[in-house]
Parts: sequence; C-alpha cells; structure tokens
Amino acid sequence: MAVTDSVVRQLHSRLKQIADMEGQIARAPKLIEVARGKVQQASSDLSNCRDTIKKKRMDADRKQLQQKEREAKLLDYTGKMNAAKNNREYQSLKDQIAADTQANSVLSDEIFETLEEIDALQAELKQLDEKLKLTEAECEKSVSQIQSRLQTVQEDLIVAKSQLASTLKELSGDFVSEFNRLVNTRNADAFAEMDGDSCGGCYNALPPRVRDTLRQGQPTLCPSCGRLLYRPE
Ligand SMILES: [Zn+2]
Repeated sequence: MAVTDSVVRQLHSRLKQIADMEGQIARAPKLIEVARGKVQQASSDLSNCRDTIKKKRMDADRKQLQQKEREAKLLDYTGKMNAAKNNREYQSLKDQIAADTQANSVLSDEIFETLEEIDALQAELKQLDEKLKLTEAECEKSVSQIQSRLQTVQEDLIVAKSQLASTLKELSGDFVSEFNRLVNTRNADAFAEMDGDSCGGCYNALPPRVRDTLRQGQPTLCPSCGRLLYRPE
C-alpha cells in the first residue's frame, strides 16, 4: 500500500485515539481515589461532629456537677450564717453566699449555652450522617461506572492497537521505521495536518516546495518542527 496522505491521516487519527484511551486508563485510579476521598471526608466530618458533641456534653455535665456542689455549699453557708456568733462572721458568710450565687448564675448561663450548642450540633450530626450515606452511594455508583468504562476502554485499546499494527503491516519497511521513529519521539504529536499554507503543529509557514508535495497527496516532514504533515480531509 502506498503511503498517501489518507493513510497518514488514518494512522494519526488512530494514534490520537490510542493516546486518548491510554489517558483515560491512566486517569481512572485517580478518579476512583477522588470519589473515595469524598467518602473519607464525609466520614471524618461526621466523627468530628460526634466528638464535639461528646466533649460539650462532658463539659455540661462537669458544670452541672460543679453547680450542685456549690448549691450544697450555699445551703451549708445559709445554715452557718443563721447561726453566726457575730456580725463579722455573719457578713463574711453573706458575702460568700452572694459570690457563690453569682458564680452559679454565670454557670447556669454557660450550661444553657452549651446545651443549646449540643442541640444545634445534633441537627448538624443528622445532616452529616445523611450526607455520608449519600456520598457512599454516589461513590459506589461512580466507582462501578469508572470500572465498567475502564474495561470497555481497555478492550477498545487492544482493538485499536491491533488495527494500527495491521495497517502498518501493509506499508513499506522504510515508512514503518520512520513512523516508529516519529512515534517514539512525540507519539501522536509527531504528526499534523497542513493548515492552509502553514504547519498545523508549529504554525510556521511552509515553503512552496513542501506545499506542492503535500498538495500532490504526498505526506512530508515540516522543515520547522519535523512533524509528518498531511493534507486535511
Ligand atoms: Zn511544523
């Protein structure tokens, strides 16, 4: 078979197809990793929220205990105050009661605030739990899509490579060596369509001699970039 521009066009298109499929195969693990990363993120958001609730609850419990202890002390102070032997002792206990009552009131506010925060976090926890379930389902779906696509692409790649090999078998040994040399240096980028009077790869204007050769349907190398040029369809 003669190496016409339609043959080179076909070979180039096959090479681009192969490069595209190889790219898809190479990207697949990354895509799966991204999908799984989203599940990990959702799961860690959920467990962080759960931990925060636990800490806040412990904080509220600790404050409630502190409040009860202070209440018991206040009761004790009130008894002692009523039995005070002198005015100084009475006043000192009265001051202590006032200070502790104030402290407990502050504590009450803090406990209330913490309980409110826990309520809000519980609502958030529920949402995060739903989000995790949704993300897991989405991940499962996209991983299975990626894997099934991957299988199709791998099968198509084998076909494309064997088609390329059988086309090359029909061409002269000299051209095949030249073709392999080009593929080894730049793969599909070693070929380009003629673009008007320029090279479609490097966009440099082509000398008249090269243009004439191409117009006769004869593929030839670009003198500027070395790509194998052919006429567009
Ligand atoms: Zn060029």
